[in-house]
Amino acid sequence: MANALSTLETTEAGALKIVSVPCLKDNFAYLVRDESNGNVAVVDAPESEAIEAALQALGWTLTHIFITHHHNDHIDGVERLRSLGNISVIGSAADATRLPILTQAVMPGESFRWGGIEVDVFDTPGHTVGHIVYHMPEPGVLFSGDTLFAMGCGRLFEGTAQQMWGGLSALAALPDETVVFFGHEYTATNADFALTVDPNNAALHDRVREVIATLQAGGRTTPTTIGLEKATNPFLRAVSEDVAREVGLPDADPEIVFAEVRRRKDNS
Ligand code: ZN
Ligand code: FE
Repeated sequence: MANALSTLETTEAGALKIVSVPCLKDNFAYLVRDESNGNVAVVDAPESEAIEAALQALGWTLTHIFITHHHNDHIDGVERLRSLGNISVIGSAADATRLPILTQAVMPGESFRWGGIEVDVFDTPGHTVGHIVYHMPEPGVLFSGDTLFAMGCGRLFEGTAQQMWGGLSALAALPDETVVFFGHEYTATNADFALTVDPNNAALHDRVREVIATLQAGGRTTPTTIGLEKATNPFLRAVSEDVAREVGLPDADPEIVFAEVRRRKDNS
Protein backbone atom coordinates (compact mmCIF):
# COMPACT_ATOMS: atom_id res chain seq x y z
CA MET A 1 0.00 0.00 0.00
CA ALA A 2 2.74 2.46 0.92
CA ASN A 3 4.41 1.62 -2.35
CA ALA A 4 1.31 2.25 -4.42
CA LEU A 5 0.73 5.55 -2.63
CA SER A 6 4.28 6.74 -3.11
CA THR A 7 3.85 6.65 -6.90
CA LEU A 8 0.76 8.89 -6.72
CA GLU A 9 1.56 12.56 -7.05
CA THR A 10 -1.08 14.89 -5.66
CA THR A 11 -1.84 18.50 -6.51
CA GLU A 12 -4.17 20.52 -4.28
CA ALA A 13 -6.32 23.21 -5.86
CA GLY A 14 -8.97 24.76 -3.64
CA ALA A 15 -11.23 21.96 -2.45
CA LEU A 16 -9.85 19.62 -5.11
CA LYS A 17 -7.18 16.97 -4.70
CA ILE A 18 -5.87 15.87 -8.09
CA VAL A 19 -3.77 12.73 -8.47
CA SER A 20 -1.96 11.81 -11.68
CA VAL A 21 -2.18 8.12 -12.53
CA PRO A 22 0.27 6.84 -15.15
CA CYS A 23 -1.51 4.36 -17.45
CA LEU A 24 -0.42 2.17 -20.36
CA LYS A 25 2.88 3.29 -21.87
CA ASP A 26 2.71 7.06 -21.53
CA ASN A 27 -0.89 8.09 -20.74
CA PHE A 28 -2.10 9.98 -17.69
CA ALA A 29 -5.50 9.58 -16.09
CA TYR A 30 -6.39 12.06 -13.34
CA LEU A 31 -8.33 11.29 -10.21
CA VAL A 32 -10.05 14.40 -8.88
CA ARG A 33 -11.60 14.43 -5.42
CA ASP A 34 -13.79 17.28 -4.22
CA GLU A 35 -13.06 17.32 -0.49
CA SER A 36 -16.24 19.33 0.14
CA ASN A 37 -18.62 16.57 -0.99
CA GLY A 38 -16.57 13.41 -1.61
CA ASN A 39 -17.19 13.34 -5.37
CA VAL A 40 -14.39 11.54 -7.20
CA ALA A 41 -13.96 11.87 -10.95
CA VAL A 42 -11.46 10.28 -13.26
CA VAL A 43 -10.57 12.31 -16.33
CA ASP A 44 -10.04 9.78 -19.14
CA ALA A 45 -9.76 6.07 -18.56
CA PRO A 46 -6.93 4.59 -20.61
CA GLU A 47 -7.24 1.33 -18.65
CA SER A 48 -9.05 0.27 -15.49
CA GLU A 49 -6.27 -1.58 -13.63
CA ALA A 50 -4.02 1.36 -12.76
CA ILE A 51 -7.02 3.55 -11.92
CA GLU A 52 -8.62 0.94 -9.66
CA ALA A 53 -5.30 0.39 -7.89
CA ALA A 54 -4.94 4.13 -7.30
CA LEU A 55 -8.52 4.43 -6.02
CA GLN A 56 -7.88 1.60 -3.62
CA ALA A 57 -4.58 3.05 -2.39
CA LEU A 58 -6.24 6.42 -1.79
CA GLY A 59 -9.39 4.96 -0.27
CA TRP A 60 -11.51 6.92 -2.76
CA THR A 61 -14.80 5.82 -4.34
CA LEU A 62 -15.28 6.74 -7.99
CA THR A 63 -18.45 8.69 -8.83
CA HIS A 64 -17.81 10.27 -12.26
CA ILE A 65 -15.88 9.66 -15.47
CA PHE A 66 -15.00 12.59 -17.76
CA ILE A 67 -13.99 11.73 -21.34
CA THR A 68 -11.99 14.09 -23.58
CA HIS A 69 -12.14 12.13 -26.85
CA HIS A 70 -12.86 8.78 -28.44
CA HIS A 71 -9.38 7.28 -28.87
CA ASN A 72 -8.97 3.88 -27.25
CA ASP A 73 -6.15 5.04 -25.01
CA HIS A 74 -8.66 7.41 -23.34
CA ILE A 75 -11.76 5.21 -23.09
CA ASP A 76 -10.71 1.56 -22.85
CA GLY A 77 -11.16 1.51 -19.07
CA VAL A 78 -14.61 3.11 -19.04
CA GLU A 79 -16.81 0.01 -19.19
CA ARG A 80 -14.99 -1.80 -16.41
CA LEU A 81 -14.85 1.30 -14.19
CA ARG A 82 -18.54 2.07 -14.64
CA SER A 83 -19.32 -1.44 -13.40
CA LEU A 84 -17.81 -0.48 -10.01
CA GLY A 85 -20.93 1.42 -8.98
CA ASN A 86 -23.45 4.08 -9.88
CA ILE A 87 -21.08 6.14 -11.97
CA SER A 88 -21.89 9.06 -14.26
CA VAL A 89 -20.08 9.14 -17.58
CA ILE A 90 -19.64 12.59 -19.12
CA GLY A 91 -18.50 13.26 -22.69
CA SER A 92 -19.20 15.28 -25.80
CA ALA A 93 -22.73 15.05 -27.20
CA ALA A 94 -21.27 15.76 -30.63
CA ASP A 95 -19.15 12.60 -30.41
CA ALA A 96 -21.63 10.38 -28.55
CA THR A 97 -21.88 7.80 -31.35
CA ARG A 98 -18.26 6.77 -30.92
CA LEU A 99 -17.91 7.17 -27.15
CA PRO A 100 -18.98 4.69 -24.48
CA ILE A 101 -22.63 5.24 -23.50
CA LEU A 102 -22.86 8.60 -21.76
CA THR A 103 -25.07 9.44 -18.80
CA GLN A 104 -24.38 13.14 -19.37
CA ALA A 105 -23.74 14.36 -22.91
CA VAL A 106 -22.33 17.88 -22.81
CA MET A 107 -22.17 20.45 -25.58
CA PRO A 108 -18.97 22.24 -26.42
CA GLY A 109 -19.30 25.78 -25.10
CA GLU A 110 -21.65 24.71 -22.32
CA SER A 111 -21.01 24.99 -18.59
CA PHE A 112 -22.30 22.47 -16.09
CA ARG A 113 -21.91 21.90 -12.40
CA TRP A 114 -20.00 18.95 -11.00
CA GLY A 115 -21.26 19.11 -7.44
CA GLY A 116 -20.37 22.66 -6.44
CA ILE A 117 -17.73 23.12 -9.13
CA GLU A 118 -18.42 24.92 -12.39
CA VAL A 119 -17.02 23.10 -15.41
CA ASP A 120 -16.68 24.89 -18.75
CA VAL A 121 -16.54 22.66 -21.81
CA PHE A 122 -14.19 23.92 -24.53
CA ASP A 123 -14.46 22.70 -28.10
CA THR A 124 -10.93 21.79 -29.21
CA PRO A 125 -11.20 20.02 -32.57
CA GLY A 126 -8.01 19.05 -34.38
CA HIS A 127 -6.60 15.91 -32.78
CA THR A 128 -10.12 14.51 -33.27
CA VAL A 129 -13.11 16.53 -34.46
CA GLY A 130 -15.06 15.81 -31.26
CA HIS A 131 -12.28 16.53 -28.76
CA ILE A 132 -13.32 18.61 -25.75
CA VAL A 133 -11.41 19.83 -22.70
CA TYR A 134 -12.69 20.59 -19.22
CA HIS A 135 -11.91 23.87 -17.48
CA MET A 136 -12.81 24.54 -13.86
CA PRO A 137 -12.37 28.32 -13.47
CA GLU A 138 -12.58 27.97 -9.70
CA PRO A 139 -10.00 26.76 -8.56
CA GLY A 140 -8.37 27.29 -11.97
CA VAL A 141 -7.60 23.88 -13.47
CA LEU A 142 -7.76 22.55 -17.02
CA PHE A 143 -7.84 18.94 -18.21
CA SER A 144 -6.45 19.25 -21.70
CA GLY A 145 -6.54 15.65 -22.97
CA ASP A 146 -4.63 15.30 -26.24
CA THR A 147 -5.04 18.95 -27.25
CA LEU A 148 -2.35 20.69 -25.17
CA PHE A 149 0.74 18.92 -23.81
CA ALA A 150 3.81 20.22 -22.01
CA MET A 151 5.68 21.98 -24.84
CA GLY A 152 3.48 20.17 -27.36
CA CYS A 153 0.03 19.67 -28.83
CA GLY A 154 -1.90 16.74 -30.26
CA ARG A 155 -1.36 15.41 -33.74
CA LEU A 156 -3.96 16.40 -36.31
CA PHE A 157 -5.65 13.07 -36.92
CA GLU A 158 -9.05 14.40 -37.93
CA GLY A 159 -9.21 18.18 -37.90
CA THR A 160 -7.29 20.96 -39.62
CA ALA A 161 -4.44 23.10 -38.35
CA GLN A 162 -6.87 26.02 -38.44
CA GLN A 163 -9.30 24.22 -36.10
CA MET A 164 -6.52 23.17 -33.74
CA TRP A 165 -5.17 26.70 -33.62
CA GLY A 166 -8.63 28.02 -32.75
CA GLY A 167 -8.88 25.68 -29.76
CA LEU A 168 -5.33 26.30 -28.59
CA SER A 169 -5.81 30.06 -28.81
CA ALA A 170 -8.87 29.84 -26.57
CA LEU A 171 -6.86 27.85 -24.01
CA ALA A 172 -3.98 30.34 -24.22
CA ALA A 173 -6.47 33.07 -23.23
CA LEU A 174 -7.13 31.40 -19.86
CA PRO A 175 -5.41 32.92 -16.82
CA ASP A 176 -1.66 32.24 -16.70
CA GLU A 177 -1.99 30.53 -13.29
CA THR A 178 -4.40 27.91 -14.68
CA VAL A 179 -2.96 24.49 -13.80
CA VAL A 180 -3.01 22.18 -16.82
CA PHE A 181 -3.30 18.40 -16.56
CA PHE A 182 -2.48 16.81 -19.91
CA GLY A 183 -3.00 13.38 -21.45
CA HIS A 184 0.47 12.05 -22.27
CA GLU A 185 4.03 12.12 -20.95
CA TYR A 186 5.53 13.19 -24.27
CA THR A 187 7.52 15.97 -22.66
CA ALA A 188 11.06 14.74 -23.41
CA THR A 189 10.51 14.47 -27.17
CA ASN A 190 8.45 17.67 -27.17
CA ALA A 191 11.36 19.46 -25.50
CA ASP A 192 13.84 18.23 -28.12
CA PHE A 193 11.60 19.48 -30.89
CA ALA A 194 10.81 22.81 -29.21
CA LEU A 195 14.51 23.68 -29.17
CA THR A 196 14.70 23.25 -32.95
CA VAL A 197 12.06 25.93 -33.68
CA ASP A 198 12.67 28.26 -30.71
CA PRO A 199 16.43 27.96 -30.09
CA ASN A 200 16.93 31.43 -28.62
CA ASN A 201 14.21 31.22 -25.97
CA ALA A 202 15.94 31.39 -22.58
CA ALA A 203 12.78 30.33 -20.71
CA LEU A 204 12.60 27.25 -22.92
CA HIS A 205 16.21 26.30 -22.21
CA ASP A 206 15.60 26.68 -18.46
CA ARG A 207 12.51 24.53 -18.66
CA VAL A 208 14.18 21.81 -20.70
CA ARG A 209 16.94 21.54 -18.11
CA GLU A 210 14.31 21.22 -15.38
CA VAL A 211 12.27 18.66 -17.25
CA ILE A 212 15.30 16.49 -17.99
CA ALA A 213 16.24 16.53 -14.29
CA THR A 214 12.67 15.62 -13.28
CA LEU A 215 12.46 12.73 -15.71
CA GLN A 216 15.93 11.43 -14.83
CA ALA A 217 14.87 11.38 -11.17
CA GLY A 218 11.90 9.21 -12.16
CA GLY A 219 9.37 12.03 -11.76
CA ARG A 220 6.68 13.17 -14.14
CA THR A 221 6.20 16.50 -15.84
CA THR A 222 2.45 16.96 -15.28
CA PRO A 223 0.90 19.38 -14.42
CA THR A 224 1.99 22.52 -16.22
CA THR A 225 0.43 26.00 -16.35
CA ILE A 226 -0.96 28.16 -19.13
CA GLY A 227 1.66 30.81 -18.36
CA LEU A 228 4.53 28.32 -18.68
CA GLU A 229 3.12 26.96 -21.94
CA LYS A 230 2.72 30.45 -23.40
CA ALA A 231 6.39 31.08 -22.61
CA THR A 232 7.83 27.78 -23.82
CA ASN A 233 5.39 25.75 -25.95
CA PRO A 234 6.47 26.19 -29.59
CA PHE A 235 2.88 25.72 -30.80
CA LEU A 236 1.48 28.51 -28.62
CA ARG A 237 4.58 30.51 -29.51
CA ALA A 238 3.32 30.63 -33.11
CA VAL A 239 2.31 34.17 -32.06
CA SER A 240 5.98 35.12 -31.51
CA GLU A 241 8.20 36.74 -34.11
CA ASP A 242 11.03 34.44 -33.02
CA VAL A 243 9.27 31.22 -33.97
CA ALA A 244 7.76 32.73 -37.14
CA ARG A 245 11.22 33.78 -38.32
CA GLU A 246 12.78 30.46 -37.31
CA VAL A 247 10.33 28.51 -39.51
CA GLY A 248 10.83 30.90 -42.41
CA LEU A 249 7.49 32.71 -42.10
CA PRO A 250 8.20 36.18 -40.74
CA ASP A 251 5.06 38.36 -40.73
CA ALA A 252 2.76 35.38 -41.36
CA ASP A 253 -0.45 34.91 -39.34
CA PRO A 254 -0.01 32.80 -36.19
CA GLU A 255 -2.35 30.21 -37.68
CA ILE A 256 0.00 29.74 -40.66
CA VAL A 257 3.04 29.60 -38.39
CA PHE A 258 1.27 27.07 -36.20
CA ALA A 259 0.51 24.85 -39.21
CA GLU A 260 4.17 24.94 -40.23
CA VAL A 261 5.40 24.13 -36.70
CA ARG A 262 2.95 21.21 -36.57
CA ARG A 263 4.14 19.99 -39.98
CA ARG A 264 7.75 20.09 -38.85
CA LYS A 265 6.94 18.20 -35.67
CA ASP A 266 5.17 15.50 -37.69
CA ASN A 267 8.29 15.11 -39.83
CA SER A 268 10.78 15.27 -36.96
ZN1 ZN B 1 -5.82 10.75 -28.70
FE1 FE C 1 -4.01 9.77 -26.43
